Amino acid sequence: MIKKTSHFIFSLTKRLLDLTFPPVCEACGRLLVEGEHIICTHCFVNLQRSDNQQGNSLEQKFWGRAPIERAVSISPFMKGSIIQILIHSLKYKNRKEIGFYLGRILSEILIQEHIDQDIDIIIPIPLHWRRKKKRGYNQSELIAIGIAEGLNRHRQNREPVTIETKCAQRMVNTETQTIKNGEERWKNVQGAFQLKNTEKLLGKKILFVDDVVTTGSTLISLLDSLRQIQGICLYVASATYVPPSSPIVPNTSR
Ligand SMILES: [Zn+2]
Repeated sequence: MIKKTSHFIFSLTKRLLDLTFPPVCEACGRLLVEGEHIICTHCFVNLQRSDNQQGNSLEQKFWGRAPIERAVSISPFMKGSIIQILIHSLKYKNRKEIGFYLGRILSEILIQEHIDQDIDIIIPIPLHWRRKKKRGYNQSELIAIGIAEGLNRHRQNREPVTIETKCAQRMVNTETQTIKNGEERWKNVQGAFQLKNTEKLLGKKILFVDDVVTTGSTLISLLDSLRQIQGICLYVASATYVPPSSPIVPNTSR
């Protein structure tokens, strides 16, 4: 009864809010219609999709640097692209629901690529505590929640995937990497993570979740520190990544 009443109050409040502040497309500003969420159908259709086949250009960033099985993303990072707008709002405008939304799209990609049934644990790339405190949340954790929801809906006779946020801690509050070249970025992130309670990762298949992969150095630094854990298999899911030939350097302030 209480549940029904609170649900009724929630939907009533939402309807009133929708009347006062009608939801608009995050990318183009058009009013959203029934059934649309975060972005309008037009923008959803125009959201450029990454090639996620084996050997894709996100995976290539890890070749020879970290032993990953597969890596997938939603859309390559381009100037003025829909994914750039979404990531900006997620990180700097407190639009947390965009994180869940991107996570659900990533879960569909993982299912399409037949990676979903492999995953045991999801680890969002940690933020330094100071940055998390300032922003109020870790955007990669929100994406991870969206992925876990999507994957667990499709689980068949298997344990649900869990999100693990306690095993890796970011020790260095890396300054904004915008102006650094590849080598400088690598030096900047080496030893940036400290691992704890890694026994629960033994023999597990782990999906690492990030919002933007630029050079891959941050992720590689974390993956590198996991090398000594026996029997683990590593996967990567990122909302977006900077394609190899792109002259664009996003603001990677985490
Ligand atoms: Zn739109």
